[in-house]
Amino acid sequence: MTRSVPTTPPDAAARRSAKAVVVYPAGRLPQFDIAFYDAARSNVTKIAELVIPPRDARAFSVPAGCFLRIISVEGPQVGDLNLWNAHDLSEHFFSGKTRALHATHVSTGDRLWSSLPSLRPMATITHNTLDWYGWDEDGAGVHDVIGTRCDPYTNVLLKGTQYHHCCHSNLTRALAAAWDLPLAEAESHVHDVLNVFMCTGFTRDTHQYFMKASPVRPGDFIELFAEIDLLCALSACPGGDCSAGHSDDDAACHPLKVEVHRPDNGALAGWRPPPVNGYSRSHG
Ligand SMILES: [Zn+2]
Repeated sequence: MTRSVPTTPPDAAARRSAKAVVVYPAGRLPQFDIAFYDAARSNVTKIAELVIPPRDARAFSVPAGCFLRIISVEGPQVGDLNLWNAHDLSEHFFSGKTRALHATHVSTGDRLWSSLPSLRPMATITHNTLDWYGWDEDGAGVHDVIGTRCDPYTNVLLKGTQYHHCCHSNLTRALAAAWDLPLAEAESHVHDVLNVFMCTGFTRDTHQYFMKASPVRPGDFIELFAEIDLLCALSACPGGDCSAGHSDDDAACHPLKVEVHRPDNGALAGWRPPPVNGYSRSHG
C-alpha cells in the first residue's frame, strides 16, 4: 500500500518563510555570575572522591555550595547523570526544560533545572574542558540533553534481547542501594539524564538522533556547582565513547571519576540556595 502524500498548498513557501523566534530568550534567565563562581572555585578542598566502574553506576551526595567534578580517566567514556533534591526525590533534573531554556547541549554558564513545580537551578556548569568543541560540521555538540538514557525496554523493542547494564538499570540499582529502596520504587525515580561527554546531534536530512565518538580524553572534566543539596547518580554507559553502539558488552568501556570540592571559608558569604519557583499553583 502506498502512502498518500498531502497536496502542497499554493502558499507553502510563504508559510515556511515565517521568522524563527527563540522560544525562551537566554537573556531573560538569571545572569551567570562569573566573578562569584570563579572566586568560589579558586580555593577549594576535596571532600569526597569515588570511581564509577564501567557499565555500572554509583549514587553520591553533593552538598549545596560544593562543586562536583566528573572526570575522564583511562579512556573516552560517556556518563549518564541523574540529579535529585537530596531531601525530596520528587524534585529532580528536568532535561526537557533545560534543553528548551539553553540548548540541545549544555556548557559553561548553563543551569541544570529541576522538575515542576520547583523549576529552579539545581546546578550551574562552572567549567567544561570541552567548551572548545562547540558545534561541529555535523551539527553535533557535547554534553547532550536530548537522549534520555539507554534502557532495557527500548533494547527489547529493537533487538529482542535482555541486557541488564543499560544506564537506566545501572541508575536504578545505584539509587536503590543509596536510599535502601525496592528496585521498582527506585526505578520510578530515574529520569532523563544529562549525557555527560556524549557527542550527538540530529542528521540534517532526516533529523534523526545520531551519536559519534566522544572527543573526551583522560583529564577532561565537567564541573557543576550544586545550587541545592544534591543526590546524584552517575552511570558509566555501556556504549563507552558511544562511537558505535550501546546496550550490550561490545564497546570498550572505562571508569569515570567523581570528585566533590568544598570552597574555602568566606567564598560563599551571602550566597543562598535558590528558592523554589514562585508560581502560585492556583492554576486559575
Ligand atoms: Zn547509556
